Amino acid sequence: MPSFVTHLESAIDGTHLPANQPQTLHKDRPLWVRYDLPAVAKAMTKDLVQSRPPTMWRYRELLPPVDDDRIVTLGEGMSPLLPTLRLGEKFGLNNVWVKDESQLPTGSFKSRGLAAAVTMANQFGTKRVAIPTAGNAGGAMAAYAARAGMEAYVFMPQDTPEINRYECVLAGARTFLVDGLITDCGKIVREGKERMGWFDCSTLKEPYRIEGKKTMGLELAEQCDWELPDVILYPTGGGTGLIGMWKAFAELAEIGWLKGDRRPRMVSVQSTGCCPISTAFEAGERFAEPFANASTIASGLRVPAAVGDFMILDAVRESGGCAIAADENHLREWMKMAIAAEGISICPEAAACVGALEQLAASGWIKPDERVVIFNTGAVQKYPEAMRCDLPQLKKDSVDWGMIESG
Ligand SMILES: *Cc1c(COP(=O)(O)O)cnc(C)c1O
Repeated sequence: MPSFVTHLESAIDGTHLPANQPQTLHKDRPLWVRYDLPAVAKAMTKDLVQSRPPTMWRYRELLPPVDDDRIVTLGEGMSPLLPTLRLGEKFGLNNVWVKDESQLPTGSFKSRGLAAAVTMANQFGTKRVAIPTAGNAGGAMAAYAARAGMEAYVFMPQDTPEINRYECVLAGARTFLVDGLITDCGKIVREGKERMGWFDCSTLKEPYRIEGKKTMGLELAEQCDWELPDVILYPTGGGTGLIGMWKAFAELAEIGWLKGDRRPRMVSVQSTGCCPISTAFEAGERFAEPFANASTIASGLRVPAAVGDFMILDAVRESGGCAIAADENHLREWMKMAIAAEGISICPEAAACVGALEQLAASGWIKPDERVVIFNTGAVQKYPEAMRCDLPQLKKDSVDWGMIESG
């Protein structure tokens, strides 16, 4: 497999760095992976892609170079793009779709990014990986590390959802609860790098998770027969997925695969419980202030300070999109409403997108016939704390039919 990667490029000042060794931040800011796109355009065809197995590695030419036997995979990719008529109708919209990432390995789209990062760690011969996590990233890294036979270290805030703790422990990761936020966990991973010799899989601190998440955009384009939707609603924490998809669309445009060269308006959705990006967007800023007292049931959105803030905001603005916060107090209702309407396992993070959809439809920012795609980034089954409910009780020997009839 020839490599199409030419170099890594600092997102903050454009400095070039070699891609043939592990790299982290440059001036404390992330790196882009850059490709020889004219060469990709010659080597990759739509037919070739479509002839390959339905995993994210079908876009090999647009992914970091890796030997076949170094790919660490659990079959991630090709999540369904589901029409959601009933959900759309609730807001007077006729063309709403859900890209359902809840069906990926480990029950969230984090598998895409971590499949890429752990694969590259494996390619570089690393035997030990580490990550700070608000929840799903830790579970995904632990699973892929297990798959690769690597040692994994996971650091999470004390109030990380139960399921995320168990999935890390079950996958054999050394898992620690930290009395702080994800930023404090990140500091431990950074500080331990020399002593422990691990590959830091933190969001955007290595360049490959973006490339993994980029495959959501590549897949969406393929599933839409290369004619992208009008609007994408994306629940934003560190922003890897939004940044990655916007990069995917630019690369597809560059190789001439997009019909009409149309790209979606990207909507970065957060919760009022933690919304540094929408706050910066409204203030017209390129960088976000750290969000104080971040608290939300959508644990994937609880990122008070994102190292790629300017990359998210640049993408949103370039696309003609916006950044918006949905009311934390209504996340459960939106979640329940969307699941009851469609049967899709909508996570609290995607519920924020349902709230944003309601706002943007009501204000006319989204028109009734526009094609809208919501990313359902995880499975609600991973959030038992957010799902708790009281059920009516029946006596087996004197069933209260009146109660059953009245629902
Ligand atoms: C991590 C996570 C997010 C946020 O993803 P980013 O790409 O880091 O912004 C959203 N939803 C879920 C379920 C997550 O696990």
